[in-house]
Amino acid sequence: MEEAKHFIGSEWVAPAGGETIPVLDPSDGQPFTQLARGTAADIEAAVRAARHAFEGPWGAASAADRGRILYRLSMLVAARHDELAQLEARDTGKPLRQARADAAALARYFEFYAGAADKLHGETLPYQTGYTVFTVREPHGVTGHIVPWNYPMQIFGRSVGAALAAGNACVVKPAEDACLSVLRVAELAAEAGLPAGALNIVTGYGHEAGAALARHAGIDHISFTGSPETGKLVVQMAAENHVPVTLELGGKSPQIVFADADLDAALPVLVSAIVQNAGQTCSAGSRVLIERSIYEPLLDRLGAAFSALRVGPSHADLDCGPLISAKQQQRVWDFLSDAHHDGIGMVAHGEIIHEAPETGFYQAPTLLRDVPAGHHLANEEVFGPVLAAMSFADEDEAVALANGTPYGLVAGIWTRDGARQLRLARRVRSGQVFINNYGAGGGVELPFGGVKHSGHGREKGFEALYGFTVLKTVAIRHG
Ligand code: NAD
Repeated sequence: MEEAKHFIGSEWVAPAGGETIPVLDPSDGQPFTQLARGTAADIEAAVRAARHAFEGPWGAASAADRGRILYRLSMLVAARHDELAQLEARDTGKPLRQARADAAALARYFEFYAGAADKLHGETLPYQTGYTVFTVREPHGVTGHIVPWNYPMQIFGRSVGAALAAGNACVVKPAEDACLSVLRVAELAAEAGLPAGALNIVTGYGHEAGAALARHAGIDHISFTGSPETGKLVVQMAAENHVPVTLELGGKSPQIVFADADLDAALPVLVSAIVQNAGQTCSAGSRVLIERSIYEPLLDRLGAAFSALRVGPSHADLDCGPLISAKQQQRVWDFLSDAHHDGIGMVAHGEIIHEAPETGFYQAPTLLRDVPAGHHLANEEVFGPVLAAMSFADEDEAVALANGTPYGLVAGIWTRDGARQLRLARRVRSGQVFINNYGAGGGVELPFGGVKHSGHGREKGFEALYGFTVLKTVAIRHG
């Protein structure tokens, strides 16, 4: 991997504009390397390389061969597990054990899509006598992937793994705040036998390289994960060329706890679903809705668990690492200062260890109580380790609260009542519902995506492959 270069056509290429971006370690706030600052010229070169691969060796590869290459890549990722985890931990600030889980998930994405590549098929359709009609699933062509900084490896893997399996050639614009692992994996993909140009990475700022990718006329599909505001811009830019976009825009996911739930099982999951990755997870369980009769006792238990949480540098491998940047830290501080100003009570918070450098971007996990339903802390994505607790009287109120935000990504429901499990699974509006468990970001096999402002289209599982293909209908008249 070469510092401050893009990966285009399987080569390390210096940025056309000659400029770089410093990369900070969130654990101490200090720069430790740099990225190439991509411009429209770099995106142009990457799209050309991808088109060349798509119209050449990659487009000609059989589905089974695509699967074999992806399988070799999954093996290479597994063999470099430690190296990738170290890189991701330093770059994002996440505790090492979380980064290890991310590296394992990345290998699993490539493994899953390797196996799926030659199982993606069309159908034969009944039509008029004398005809045979069938459908074929074809790749879009050149796909663009705009990746955020919270799970660079995982989000890259889920999107690019599916796109490559379906036969597309990819141009990826990872996030300027964290993307070193993505560059390293692109290099491993070439080692696995992926033809030059089938996977290209252009680093840089969103408004420069990202926007150039979103508005490029040579892109046939865009997959975007990030904020709703940027998602809207990406859709507008892509619309100029009538390019379809898959959007994954985060959420304000509720965990609904009824009085009959197994609270011993629920408690650690309620905590980890918001503390994982310092709350910077699109599917974080950032609201806990608790049935009134157990509200105070459960808050006491949650408070005790929050007080025991320890926060420190990624290498200390504690419960929680720093936030990604000073900007993200300020965003979380603004939410907490609004909470204080509006009289929202704090139940408990964790502890930042003394050894954590003062220049790092730390925030102690914080539990807030009685957050009013209309308040922005109940409706907006903080993207930090802040859990908003609210109480409800009955099922109807629980559903109203759960559905009462602009988002709909994931929901958790905790109850032993089987009929209620089924009722709520249907009534809650979200892309995924977990009952007596919660899968923040987990499950390579499980289709994932949102409704409402959480986005549209599905990543993960077999469903993602459909999104990375177009369906062609072929009608043959043979008499
Ligand atoms: P963002 O949406 O601006 O960035 C995500 C990706 O989009 C990055 O690669 C970025 O470079 C790119 N981008 C930015 N502007 C662009 C543009 N004009 N055209 C094309 N691409 C562009 O997110 P952010 O500013 O890094 O974070 C802000 C907030 O977004 C966070 O606080 C959080 O609430 C949310 N967020 C959500 C997710 C998620 O997984 N759902 C991920 C990251 C951030």
